[in-house]
Amino acid sequence: MNRLSEIFFHQSVLHFMRFERVDQICRWRLCSGCGACVSACPERNLSMADIPAEGLRPILKDVHCRRCGRCVQVCPGVGLEHNRENALIFSGEWGPVLEVWEGYAADPEIRYWGSSGGAASAFALYCVEQASAGGVVQTGVDETVPIRNRTCCSRTREEILRCSGSRYSPASPCEFFERILEFSEPSVFVGKPCDVAALRKYEKIVPEISKKIFAAVSIFCAGTPSTEGTLVVLREMGISAEKLSSFRYRGGGWPGKATAIEKKTGQKKELTYEQCWGGILSRYVGFRCRLCPDSTGEFADISFGDPWYQPPKPNEPGRSLVIVRTERGRTLLRQAVQKGYLILQPVSETVIARSQPSLLNKRRHLWGRLAVLRMMGVPSPRYGGFGLFRSWWKLPFSEKLKSLGGTVRRVWSRRLYCPLPSDIFREKSC
Ligand SMILES: Cc1cc2nc3c(=O)[nH]c(=O)nc-3n(C[C@H](O)[C@H](O)[C@H](O)COP(=O)(O)OP(=O)(O)OC[C@H]3O[C@@H](n4cnc5c(N)ncnc54)[C@H](O)[C@@H]3O)c2cc1C
Repeated sequence: MNRLSEIFFHQSVLHFMRFERVDQICRWRLCSGCGACVSACPERNLSMADIPAEGLRPILKDVHCRRCGRCVQVCPGVGLEHNRENALIFSGEWGPVLEVWEGYAADPEIRYWGSSGGAASAFALYCVEQASAGGVVQTGVDETVPIRNRTCCSRTREEILRCSGSRYSPASPCEFFERILEFSEPSVFVGKPCDVAALRKYEKIVPEISKKIFAAVSIFCAGTPSTEGTLVVLREMGISAEKLSSFRYRGGGWPGKATAIEKKTGQKKELTYEQCWGGILSRYVGFRCRLCPDSTGEFADISFGDPWYQPPKPNEPGRSLVIVRTERGRTLLRQAVQKGYLILQPVSETVIARSQPSLLNKRRHLWGRLAVLRMMGVPSPRYGGFGLFRSWWKLPFSEKLKSLGGTVRRVWSRRLYCPLPSDIFREKSC
């Protein structure tokens, strides 16, 4: 088949296609790796495996599943929908926004080791120490293999501190939903925007989990790089993954450096944030992440990111940008400030766009990209309530053409109209 007939073939198949199982979602590159499908599968037939070039992906243990569709129902990769009942709280292009703050953790160690100002960790610590959260379900380093992540439930300051800082590599915190249901006390859930969106979808099929979530916290996210990205970072540092005793992507000041420590010699290798994220990791962000309309955690109670609008000064200990999205988030944040966990000052909502121009730009190009993908027979996510057409319309004419033309070029050159071969998702993980 030549390329045009391949596109035509997939275009016609697409009209009849509905995802029935999560492996189809992976093959069409729409999985974000959150792990919610693992928790939703009633037969416990899925486990996450790291496909180095793709990310963490669900693998079927037994191909003969009942096709109940629960894995698809909870998948944030195939689509997201805002409930716009309370339309007034929806800000232009950032989802629900009640308040915007900037500040940092009052605890200097948390501030220093946090990604930006340690505010996400300080907020979580307040919920555990002063409010009635039983623990914090979050992502931290897997200390036995420091380039990997693991989901854990932190209950003390030391455990929360150990998980602070961003891990720019695959993580599946939604794998933990079943455990959260078993805990006697409600947990704070910290994840990327897709993880929190998956939590909201999971709540629809397992409503009991709502009572077990003390607060849903999101970090901003431009996309998760695959493990291959981290391996390239290590190559650039001149150290192999097996020789590591520890590995951090950032933190230790703002934005901090990517730091690898060699096991035997204790030698330290570093790359700046720009070299690590801008120069390497951002090139390893997957297809689904590039089609994400929610980079700032619009489904969370509260979300945290970098206030890049004021570039970090030398030796700056760090600041975080905080978006309050629900009344629950507002109440808890106020209490965390009153109890001395966070030092914050209110800022204008325009600070979000000034801090995150590339996230805004991505959202504005999205409608055009999705339209081209559909025309070319490439399955793409369905989004509701994001106002994507309105955002796209704001682009200058030349940028509109770019979003269309660039997508045609990428679909054609990367053969995105063909699914990935199924054998790469068969326990071939690293
Ligand atoms: C892949 C990725 C892309 C990002 N892109 C942007 C961006 O474009 N713009 C921006 O402003 N910020 C981005 N961030 C978020 C940013 O790095 C900080 O997390 C954010 O500024 C909050 O900082 P903090 O100091 O308040 O958080 P901290 O106090 O350091 O807490 C960070 C929290 O995030 C959790 N976490 C870390 N890595 C992951 C992960 N991979 N998956 C799920 N949870 C995790 C930790 O468990 C911890 O609870 C990104 C983060 C990641 C992981």
